Amino acid sequence: MTEISFSRLRVILLDRDGVINHEPGPILNPEQFAMIPGSADAVARINAQGWKCFVITNQAAIARGDLNEEIFEQITDKMHLELKKSGAHIDGQYFCPHHPDWQNGRRQTNPVPCLCRKPGTRMLEQASSEHGFVQEEAVFIGDTTTDFAAAAEWGTYSIGVRTGCAGQDGKMSVDPDYWSDDLWSAVDFLLNNKA
Ligand SMILES: [Mg+2]
Ligand SMILES: [Zn+2]
Repeated sequence: MTEISFSRLRVILLDRDGVINHEPGPILNPEQFAMIPGSADAVARINAQGWKCFVITNQAAIARGDLNEEIFEQITDKMHLELKKSGAHIDGQYFCPHHPDWQNGRRQTNPVPCLCRKPGTRMLEQASSEHGFVQEEAVFIGDTTTDFAAAAEWGTYSIGVRTGCAGQDGKMSVDPDYWSDDLWSAVDFLLNNKA
């Protein structure tokens, strides 16, 4: 278990699919990107608090050849647009386009692991070094066990949300440090407890 330091909290790290937007399956075009109710307003509250907010997302559909980076950018634009409707913004996004079993749309006989795909911590390290914050100043909010594992491995507090996979992805055996119903409730928990 990682302890939370409410007095030092100033960075919120967000998984995207299943936290900000619904995830009926991989999001392959802007039309499929639909916000979870309350998530944009939750980000607006993070912004109003003066906390920085970064998205940390695995996008293996790119490695599988189902999505290219240009379309991914269009999906990102849609996310920005939806957030803007609530006066919200994110301060940056990190994504992993890899999958160990896939490269350029072709299945690999020998797995090619990367360091960024969660539960890898490379994206967290990158955000931390580029924006100058440490583990104790951040909280990671996600919906899958790989999110919780990445946060635990890097040493930052994690909150699981019951939207998206709700931790039922079955990939790993790891729990978050705290459970919330959704992003709105998670932010509520943080704001109610901040020092
Ligand atoms: Mg997710
Ligand atoms: Zn990667």
